[in-house]
Amino acid sequence: MRFATRAIHAGQPPDPPTGAVIPPVHFSSTFHQIAPGKHKGFEYSRSGNPTRAALEKNLADLEGGKFGMAFASGLAAEDNVLRLLRPGDHIVACRDIYGGTFRLLTKIWGPLGVRTTFVDATRPEAIERAITKKTRILWLETPSNPRLVVTDLAAACRIARRRKILSVVDNTFASPYLQRPLSLGADIVVHSTTKYLGGHSDLIGGAIVVKDPDLYSRLYFYQNGVGAIAGPMDCYFVLRGIKSLAVRMDRHCANALTVARFLANHPKIARVHYPGLESHPGHDVARRQMRHFGAMMAIELKNGTLARAVRLVCAVRVFTLAESLGAVESLIGHPATQSHASVPRPLRLKMGIPDDMVRISVGIEDVNDLIEDLEQALKKV
Ligand SMILES: *Cc1c(COP(=O)(O)O)cnc(C)c1O
Repeated sequence: MRFATRAIHAGQPPDPPTGAVIPPVHFSSTFHQIAPGKHKGFEYSRSGNPTRAALEKNLADLEGGKFGMAFASGLAAEDNVLRLLRPGDHIVACRDIYGGTFRLLTKIWGPLGVRTTFVDATRPEAIERAITKKTRILWLETPSNPRLVVTDLAAACRIARRRKILSVVDNTFASPYLQRPLSLGADIVVHSTTKYLGGHSDLIGGAIVVKDPDLYSRLYFYQNGVGAIAGPMDCYFVLRGIKSLAVRMDRHCANALTVARFLANHPKIARVHYPGLESHPGHDVARRQMRHFGAMMAIELKNGTLARAVRLVCAVRVFTLAESLGAVESLIGHPATQSHASVPRPLRLKMGIPDDMVRISVGIEDVNDLIEDLEQALKKV
């Protein structure tokens, strides 16, 4: 079956006892045992819960994996992957990376003895050179945040495989509808289901998907042993969001391409970072490995300053000034004072995030309203 069909049905046949078309939300923390250890598949909701199991099956199917695991947040899912490591182990990660992942790697796992080297992952030789005898994980994110850098997943994962290290791909920006890293050679996919999978800005959640049974049992040991699981209500919300993932993504991407072209031709805009534009350095790779180009973009103003960027994000009326991304409503943000405010300015500039960069998450509203809104807001800067 095709993606849009599987999004609606995978992992959720009608509920056997009642015929309910939607998986019931099972709030029970514990399950009856006929004799000690003899039960219908569930014993305690940290170890497994039927609503969570439905979501986990659904996610595994959509990513082309065998095993899904749902977590309380995207960062909890990432942390669960990092528990595979031991003091002295080394990670090679792409330089352009979600701020929370950067903090998790450097400020939480760093002091525990796990070192990370950040590289320009668009250059395979840079990945190759950074790998040492201690390297256990290659951590990738594409398209990346906030500069929409596109990494060639097949090429990068091939290096990881050859050097016998695990490749992990944060697929949050693309969603499995646009890109399936496991089919391009990745070992582990992680998600913030808070974003496109949930899709409605009404939950925080995360996920891991893998193919390999041994890798799954190691990761499941930590999911159960640490317990950062997704609750049943959040699992229900993600499952509900995923039912419309394909139609939402089609509209998100179509709107984004229109908005990107409008901005690219606007006299006050110096640069539009969007993989769907032919001028984007990752355009050809994105065309190869993604179904469409996503709905995230970043812009820079002509003669841009921090003050003018702040004026722009405050002048919008249809867009909402807020952190996060990937939901039906269009959001706008200013990395220098929001998502990347904790990064020292010289380092932030080196990361390619100037003072005047504005990040846009294009929603599924009528695109004409979005363009008119940006037009009126740009008149004020
Ligand atoms: C939001 C996000 C995360 C973290 O997810 P939470 O659900 O906020 O914990 C990780 N990676 C990317 C790319 C994100 O956008």
